[in-house]
Amino acid sequence: MKFICTLSLLTLIGTCATPKYSTRIENIKESITIVDSTLVKKYASTITPEDLKLQLYQFASREFEGRKTGEPGQKKAAEFLQNFYKRRAIKSPFKDENYFQNIPKSFFDESVGVKENIGATENVLAYIEGSEKPEELLILSAHLDHEGVKNGQVYYGADDNGSGTVALLEIAEAFKIAAENGHRPKRSILFIHCTAEEVGILGSEYYVKHPVFPLENTIANLNIDMIGRVDDRHINNKNYIYLIGSDRHSKELHFISEAVRNTYTDIDLDYKYNKLDDYNQYYSRSDHYSFAKENVPVIFYFNGEHEDYTKATDTPDKIDYELMTKRIKLIFATSWQLVNQETRVVIDENNLFLK
Ligand SMILES: [Zn+2]
Repeated sequence: MKFICTLSLLTLIGTCATPKYSTRIENIKESITIVDSTLVKKYASTITPEDLKLQLYQFASREFEGRKTGEPGQKKAAEFLQNFYKRRAIKSPFKDENYFQNIPKSFFDESVGVKENIGATENVLAYIEGSEKPEELLILSAHLDHEGVKNGQVYYGADDNGSGTVALLEIAEAFKIAAENGHRPKRSILFIHCTAEEVGILGSEYYVKHPVFPLENTIANLNIDMIGRVDDRHINNKNYIYLIGSDRHSKELHFISEAVRNTYTDIDLDYKYNKLDDYNQYYSRSDHYSFAKENVPVIFYFNGEHEDYTKATDTPDKIDYELMTKRIKLIFATSWQLVNQETRVVIDENNLFLK
């Protein structure tokens, strides 16, 4: 009798001291406060369909020969990105006006084998230093490479991943304009245009093995790979974007992402491909995965596959620039929140609400 009483008492105490998991989750949601909404709207408005179109028609042009890793076309694409940042006085994290993180051929020989013969290449990095917590860093990424020229046909890769590339440029520019107007982000932002994604997400793999800033100070990675088109599932409602991975490391990141969406836009966040057992396993198929493996919370933004995916016909005239702008504004607003909110995003194992 006494034994049972003691147990009941313990159970009771236990229940009172530790709220139910669903309540704790609710507490995380309620702890999120959206910051600077007027500023976010103001600087998001600098991202326009016209600017995106102008950049993408250059980046996904014949001149860059399908941007195959290590080939002259990819090098031209890297130069194009570096010149963009230089012109806008957005700095590099390196010295001497160099924006390239060089990856030697030997890295590929070791990881995928000499037979693949992937030449030396480079990630392109740009950096905006934070005003209050510069050591804490958000990484925005998008791969710059594509499939090159095959059978005499240029693979333009306008959606894959010209769309993510120009998204990074315009987001960087918006943050730069804000900084010039006295609204520098509190935390730092690193923009990484990853090379060698199409050959096995190896540019981001190289970065996490040779991080420019400590990975433990990297608060999150938002990765963009294909955001300019509409897939078959959404032909009748193109107002969507797939989000993958947002809840894997940090429930807080997931709820921040949703709160930002609810504050600024009516775009549908589609989680179809976020299911753990999803057949396509997109979670492991773009650059965010390199960061996720290092315990950095990630969100992957993606429009799904379409008829021109991995074909020479993925051209800039088929991009929906209005829709792409809407998606980029969501990513910009999410970034702003992550770098300006009071505390850095908490990984679930450290989140006191969940304990
Ligand atoms: Zn891609």
